[in-house]
Amino acid sequence: MKQVRVRFAPSPTGELHIGGVRTALFNWLFARHHKGKFILRIEDTDVLRSQKDFITSVIENLNWLGLNWDEGPGIGGDYGPYFQSQRLDIYKRYAKKLLREGKAYPCYCTQEELLQRRRKMQREGKPPVYDGHCRDLSLAQREKLEREGRKSTVRFKVPHNGTVKVRDLLRGDVNFENKILGDFIILKSDGTPTFNFANVVDDYLMRITCVIRGDDHLSNTPRQILIYQALNFDPPSYAHIPMILGKDGAKLSKRHGATSITYYREKGYLPWAVVNYLSLLGWSTPDSQQFFTKEELIQKFSLERVGKSSAVFDYQKLEWMNAEYIRKMDTDELAKLLIPYLKKRGWVKDKVDSITYRKIFRITELEKDRLRTLSDIVELADFFFEKDFAYDSKAVKKKLKNDYVCSLLRRVKNEVEQLSKFDEENLERTLRKISKELSLSTAKAFHPLRIALTGRMRGPGLFELAAVLGRKEVLRRIDRTLEMLKEKGYGGSASGRPQDSGSCSGGSNPPPPAKLAPSSRG
Ligand code: GLU
Repeated sequence: MKQVRVRFAPSPTGELHIGGVRTALFNWLFARHHKGKFILRIEDTDVLRSQKDFITSVIENLNWLGLNWDEGPGIGGDYGPYFQSQRLDIYKRYAKKLLREGKAYPCYCTQEELLQRRRKMQREGKPPVYDGHCRDLSLAQREKLEREGRKSTVRFKVPHNGTVKVRDLLRGDVNFENKILGDFIILKSDGTPTFNFANVVDDYLMRITCVIRGDDHLSNTPRQILIYQALNFDPPSYAHIPMILGKDGAKLSKRHGATSITYYREKGYLPWAVVNYLSLLGWSTPDSQQFFTKEELIQKFSLERVGKSSAVFDYQKLEWMNAEYIRKMDTDELAKLLIPYLKKRGWVKDKVDSITYRKIFRITELEKDRLRTLSDIVELADFFFEKDFAYDSKAVKKKLKNDYVCSLLRRVKNEVEQLSKFDEENLERTLRKISKELSLSTAKAFHPLRIALTGRMRGPGLFELAAVLGRKEVLRRIDRTLEMLKEKGYGGSASGRPQDSGSCSGGSNPPPPAKLAPSSRG
């Protein structure tokens, strides 16, 4: 059997789209499954719309996803160059061959003429294909037009009758009538090839055995097959995979949410989570397995199990899957992935010393279960780094307004100052003791402290996070909160009761615990 050779052939005219990545992935999986070759070819013949940045971005993103290629940019190969812009002479050579053999012809029609005639055909209810105006010009007529300074394109001669059969691995045979194809351009007047032509020449010269691409290309395939036949090339086999749709059934576009892979990378999706998720867009195992290791996916992937109907892109499911992968990740590995986000926010310096790393590692452990994407760390962990974090106003109103709060916080502060060792266990023991002495439920005792330390109602374990902050910072935050409450007149600071007097005003002698208990119940 011939070695499997498949390719991903992006046109760098925009950011790499989720759909493009899925195409690349299916090709890559197919190649790896069959121990064949995966080739990356950049289809950059459209000089006006192709951009270097997009090429760089395709390469970076495929590398990031781990979809490595065996031939292509950066590594070369036996069938290069792998940029179409460097292969223009090759296309010209094959176009000339077709011209010589009378299978193609120069066309001198101007855009305007073409437009006028197309409109006329539409009015007459005919398919708006090229009308063959230049198909049978004599040599003398051609020379005359050239003397007039007319530029020419090269058109492919499509047989007037008959049909082209596209054998598709997913949908079986699809027939197209030649007469609706029309003589199409293979070389533009500036000498650059059209997509259909360059794509065929390259697939042939690069020995591609199977073309796996989106079914938006199905209508190109009959024209391409005609080119193969005219050049006496054997066509590859084809698998046109169904498009990815949004939830409303329309083709996936920006309207549905982010579609560029760069967005997902920057947002902090794990490459394998993206790959795993995309592999299930249009493909499944008989037992609907959801999570795969790389080896499993390669081993289980087959084109036979790619569905015929379109797949719907489910943003929530991707996010869920990503969160699952994050949760299962080794903490050290995850911490290292989070560092760039912390750096970007200016919370850690370029060089992370061992003390900072220990802190990041602990924070990672504490926040791991709440991360859906890596960038979530910025929101989840901001209180660890921002000394002047904002207090959630709802939390303050709901939990810090009560009269007992200032006394409680001052009591906690006092005891924390005196702890022989500041760690999770001691902190917990102390807080439980205080809550008992003040006859407060643990919730009533813990919530205010949590808000004092983090500004919010939810987050990682209170004692764990306090331990990460350290004694000095915990004390500073309690003071800061007391200040804030004093300003607002919350937490007993303005109760006017003698036993509360000054409880949020920062006095150095808090009332003894026994006295506090009754008032704090208030
Ligand atoms: N350059 C084409 C595209 O990006 C390639 C299509 C194909 O795979 O043949 O759509």
